[in-house]
Amino acid sequence: MANQDTKQEKIAALPDLFQMGDDGVHLRSARCGTCGTCFFPEYHEQHRPDCSREGVEKVLLSRTGRLASYTIQCYMPPPPFKTEGDITPYPIGMVEFSEGIQVVGIMVNCTEDDLELGMAVETTTFTLYHDEQGQEIVTWAFRPVND
Ligand SMILES: [Zn+2]
Repeated sequence: MANQDTKQEKIAALPDLFQMGDDGVHLRSARCGTCGTCFFPEYHEQHRPDCSREGVEKVLLSRTGRLASYTIQCYMPPPPFKTEGDITPYPIGMVEFSEGIQVVGIMVNCTEDDLELGMAVETTTFTLYHDEQGQEIVTWAFRPVND
């Protein structure tokens, strides 16, 4: 049913990968109760070949992390990634979270010149396209934190 509110609603392209709430955007991870390893996405349990993988608990990653690595990508991500136009070139960052996991995502609100290893970044969303109702279909992304 269409939302008559004038405020545009963001819809997660892949709802089991991240969550959007009043406290911001959080990636949905899980922690293995046997070895303590966090993995992403939360349903990806192939984290350690010899682990019994018992007691897996869902964990929301911290909203902020540190930029561990980045690159500039000059080609479009493969399907099912879908955008309304060519976004190349764009920065991709690998972000380290205090939960002990690194996750890759598009960097927004910045250019290559703004990026420094170790800088604080926060999880946000990136608008992929608009659906027939004009709603924003989004995926997760990272942006520099302006301290
Ligand atoms: Zn494990």
